[in-house]
Amino acid sequence: MQRRDFIKGVGVGSLALGAAGAASMAHAKAEYDWKMVTTWPKNFPGLGTGANNLAALIEQMSGGRIKVHVYGAGELVPAFEVFDAVSRGTAQMGHGSAYYWKGKSEAAQFFSTVPFGLTAQEMNAWIYHGGGLELWSELYGQFGLIPAPAGNSGVQMGGWFNKEIKSVEDLKGLKMRIPGLGGEVLARAGGTPVNLPGGELFTALQNGTIDATEWVGPYNDLAFGLYKAAKYYYYPGWHEPGTIMEAMVNKQAFEALPADLQAIVLNACKVVNQDMLAEYTARNPTALRTLVDKHGVELRRFPDDVIRKLRGLSEEVIAEIAERDPFAAKVHAAYRKFLAQAREWTGIAELSYLNARDLV
Ligand code: CA
Repeated sequence: MQRRDFIKGVGVGSLALGAAGAASMAHAKAEYDWKMVTTWPKNFPGLGTGANNLAALIEQMSGGRIKVHVYGAGELVPAFEVFDAVSRGTAQMGHGSAYYWKGKSEAAQFFSTVPFGLTAQEMNAWIYHGGGLELWSELYGQFGLIPAPAGNSGVQMGGWFNKEIKSVEDLKGLKMRIPGLGGEVLARAGGTPVNLPGGELFTALQNGTIDATEWVGPYNDLAFGLYKAAKYYYYPGWHEPGTIMEAMVNKQAFEALPADLQAIVLNACKVVNQDMLAEYTARNPTALRTLVDKHGVELRRFPDDVIRKLRGLSEEVIAEIAERDPFAAKVHAAYRKFLAQAREWTGIAELSYLNARDLV
């Protein structure tokens, strides 16, 4: 205690010790010893390493005053118990994605991704500057949690299939791992959606428990070796156009922090939110070449008819969620309004530019 009091007492005067001296003193004992449970396999590229980066940043930015121990899925709690574990304070932080918690509230899915919805860039705009984070905080606040975006995959891939998808008929009877709203859309198209944590996908696909799976994109799908269990790799990821990975913080634990450490935790999330998207954008192109050139994966684009059908079904599914759940209705209305504005501007800016860049 004496030593800890001394470190606290150093305060502003620690500058006199020089940066190295102050840091080594601060590392002597963390003032806050936190656990972060995650829905990802430990150290999984992009997702698990993103959670590791978040923990490391918080520790570094706080000069060691907060120490965060990261747990992979199943180490402390199973993947899909992360939300409850942080809510009840078993862990102070969690890292996952909000659509995994649709059983808590269907509105949660809007803070992850929506089929045919906002891209990563638009999602960040909505969350940070369009009122999204306020709604998300209101929802998670009911569970004693503070949410923060802490990563984004960008547009995902449509998934791995062992047969070609030539028409909507080919989706009928298809047992596919696809979480969130995308899964409900698949069900409406006649398929059977399954939700499994990432760590179980390869085996389930290989032993035929599922016929198809989506995961993230080339970088992550290559790491899981999904090309060994399926031949066709479809795009685009209509169901996940810019999925937010979330950090959640136990509200009591957060409120026990002094204001500077609270700012550090939330700003570290912001750093990782941006960094993960940059990492995916950098790694996906090379991983895709490896999948196609080295592993002989057959790349396929979903036919326009299939896309049109899925888009129509998505609108139905989303509208019905809003009818079932008053809070989801409120979030849906806000999301829809933002999407309509974003679409017009993105059409004039990004879409026109991308078309111009590829014009032949
Ligand atoms: Ca996915």
